[in-house]
Amino acid sequence: LQLPTKATHQQTREFNVRLALRTLYDSGPISRAEISRRTRLTRTTVSDVIAGLVADGLVEEVGRGPSSGGKAPILLRVVPDARQVIGLDLGEEAFTGALVDLRGEVRHEVSLPVGGRDGDDALALVDVLVERLLALADRPLLGIGVGTPGVIDAVTGVIRWAVNLDWQDLPLGRVLEERFGLPVQVVNDSRAAAVAVHTFGLAGARVSNLVAIKVGRGIGAGIVLGGELVHGDGFGAGEIGHLVVADSGERCRCGRSGCLETVASAGAIVRSARRGNGTGREWRTAQRLGLDEVLRDFQRGERRARTAVLAAGRYLGAAIAAIIGVMDIHRVVLHGSVTAFGDPWLDAVRDATGARALGLLTSGVRIDVVNERANLAVLGASAMLMTNQLGLSLAR
Ligand SMILES: [Zn+2]
Repeated sequence: LQLPTKATHQQTREFNVRLALRTLYDSGPISRAEISRRTRLTRTTVSDVIAGLVADGLVEEVGRGPSSGGKAPILLRVVPDARQVIGLDLGEEAFTGALVDLRGEVRHEVSLPVGGRDGDDALALVDVLVERLLALADRPLLGIGVGTPGVIDAVTGVIRWAVNLDWQDLPLGRVLEERFGLPVQVVNDSRAAAVAVHTFGLAGARVSNLVAIKVGRGIGAGIVLGGELVHGDGFGAGEIGHLVVADSGERCRCGRSGCLETVASAGAIVRSARRGNGTGREWRTAQRLGLDEVLRDFQRGERRARTAVLAAGRYLGAAIAAIIGVMDIHRVVLHGSVTAFGDPWLDAVRDATGARALGLLTSGVRIDVVNERANLAVLGASAMLMTNQLGLSLAR
């Protein structure tokens, strides 16, 4: 996500373009002389690079700054809506897509219910979503950023395994590139969300180390270390949902038993809150009740719901303690449907984390629910695509 702040003589013209653009993006409006000073590129190089960016419509002149004696300098800025990115979140209930501008502002959003589709049917739904967004685009498109559950090779765009969608070794990046003729970036949705939290400072402050954990139907973490997203050797960094945490626990959709998802996810809470709640027909009705109903019971103080939710929070806290024990990261942000249980759940998470990790490590830890101003996976996948195509960071 970050480029070096200083150019050296080996670097290519493309690097110079990216460096000038990023400097302008992060610090504009500023003058050509100021870009030269900040990047240590020569004035001639900067003038040449800027001429190209203005011709491409990415940069524009916006009046004159204060004079420091001589002629007042012309100020430049990146045109926020010079390009658009299609950002997608292939979520549990719905595939959501948006047109996102260069400042991370969502221009149009489209959401299509998944309705249990998987395999080729789910892939066809992605096509429909992209077609709908293409029709809405009113600026040149940079490409498509896709956030999707599963283990993704973020370099090749191959989905190695997405259990919900029944996708295995699906080259989604290549499929979409060939179909739509645009660059495509495919990234795990939890990791995309971590990028969004990092780039927009949604953790309350812009920090270079953070863990963002999605707690919904699935559980997954995105880890940002030193300002960089951690992928891992096999692109599985942060796949905490299938850590086995409960001995002789329930069967998981991954095939094993006792995974974190079987005790701390939305589905686990619903099952646990409803188990044994009545008999016969009454019990079957109860089984169909979803998270919203459990949330209402929880807020009314119904005992079984509270027990289920708080136990789920404690399991999550234990997993967070393990992450902190290994990584010594102080900022943990939580998002996803389970965060709707609010402070009592969050307190259970925090207490379990504190009880299970070394006090020295947890004393500076902050665990919060992130304030989602837009779909985090859409924003994060868009940010990664922009970074790859233009060298931009979406930081303000
Ligand atoms: Zn599992």
